[in-house]
Amino acid sequence: MPAHDRLYINGAWVPSHDTDLLTVVDPTTERPLATVPDATARDVDDAVSAARAAADRWAATPVGERADLLRAVAEELGRRAEPLARLVAQDVGSPLSFARAVQVLLPVNSFLQAARTAVAYPFERAQGPSRILREPYGVVAAITPWNYPVHQAAAKIAPALAAGNTVVLKPSEVAPLSVWELADAIATVGLPPGVFNLVCGSGPRAGEALAAHPGVDVVSFTGSTHTGRRIGALAARTVKKVTLELGGKSPAVMLADADPARVVPDVMASAFMNNGQTCSALTRLIVPRPALADVEELARHTALDWVPGDPGEERTRLGPLASAAQLQRVRRHITRARADGAALVTGGEDPPAHTPRGFFVRPTVLSRVDPRMALHHEEVFGPVLAIEAYDSEEEALNIANDTEYGLAAAVWTGDEHRALALARALRAGQVQVNGAPFDPNAPFGGYKQSGNGREGGTAGLEEFLETKAVQI
Ligand code: NDP
Repeated sequence: MPAHDRLYINGAWVPSHDTDLLTVVDPTTERPLATVPDATARDVDDAVSAARAAADRWAATPVGERADLLRAVAEELGRRAEPLARLVAQDVGSPLSFARAVQVLLPVNSFLQAARTAVAYPFERAQGPSRILREPYGVVAAITPWNYPVHQAAAKIAPALAAGNTVVLKPSEVAPLSVWELADAIATVGLPPGVFNLVCGSGPRAGEALAAHPGVDVVSFTGSTHTGRRIGALAARTVKKVTLELGGKSPAVMLADADPARVVPDVMASAFMNNGQTCSALTRLIVPRPALADVEELARHTALDWVPGDPGEERTRLGPLASAAQLQRVRRHITRARADGAALVTGGEDPPAHTPRGFFVRPTVLSRVDPRMALHHEEVFGPVLAIEAYDSEEEALNIANDTEYGLAAAVWTGDEHRALALARALRAGQVQVNGAPFDPNAPFGGYKQSGNGREGGTAGLEEFLETKAVQI
């Protein structure tokens, strides 16, 4: 395990220019877990300079060689899978079984997928009298959040490197420890110095310095819509390309012919996944009014399967939220929803009786939510499901689309034609039909204020490629 007191710049673990430290807190015990550097603008400058200096050589490295190195990173992460999963469980609060299956395997897949996609990609092609070249931008800044720390970093680093860019990564200070492990895995496989760099520091300090830096060509950000807007404004000063993967308030529309006994547990599993801290979580269940009472009863019953507990234990399905700030935010959302007239089906803002410490929230379901309420519109980022009733399919679609977000959506019906018609009408970057599993190789990203750009597959690689037309 690498020491957390260093930054990784130009192929070496180096101290920050400043001695300021950030404390990382264990969300289960509320005790300090580690301290990490609060990188300064000078540290960011060093990292960007190293990335700049390495850019031309890396861009000229044959794609097959770049792909081999990315496959080696995937192998190295695979070797470290168990300690990595345990670290994510401790640092983020993700249940261990979930951390193993998702927080570790998704990033392994991202490196393999990026290698595979780049090798097969036509970086040059003829089009009429022109040759169309796809070339790396140069230096990519990746600014990532705390909910899937390794995955969100890998989903940016892997395609950016595969495309021939160099990278400076700034993870969130809230849960950064597993990212050191990722950086160490990358360091181990022997990428040339400067190709990958890690700076850890607070958003307003290191994040803003990176987004505004004139030596950065692309900023790829995942996090809140609020911070995404700020990053877009900072990057605009030097006309950088910006890709944003932001929040969501994703609807699951249950049509009258769907079986609530299948729909309710599946949608709740999405809403409560990773303790409710998933950008694409289905957090609004939209049901025909005659089914409302049944759905509420099923939800109350299903919530019993989601007992908050120690994320390091094998059986736990619901861990704590990642930070005290997140806990306060989620409680405020619940209180506000009740004051707005939502009916509490189960859970609530009081902490679970059996967890005297830790940032725990009870699995919460609020029903009779409607578009006049904040809960209909605002991302909660905790284990909170809103149930909304509709009287016609047209109204169901309007309720589903009536938020500023458009990241994900789901449709439940026995009729595939209706499912596809509704999927086409939903304004979201990803629509799941009847609980179909997540496809990590499909493009992922948002409509509306859920962001712009895509991650995953060919679309994800192309975000990191400039286009040049050569006429001969
Ligand atoms: P942020 O969007 O603020 O954090 C995401 C990343 O951006 C972190 O690395 C953070 O650094 C960095 N950052 C923060 N401020 C700036 C800035 N001014 N300039 C550059 N970088 C910055 O998320 P929060 O932690 O504040 O969470 C708030 C809410 O955001 C959540 O409740 C949730 O609704 C949403 N969210 C959505 C996510 C998603 O996956 N779409 C992920 C996380 C949060 P640092 O943390 O070190 O300060």
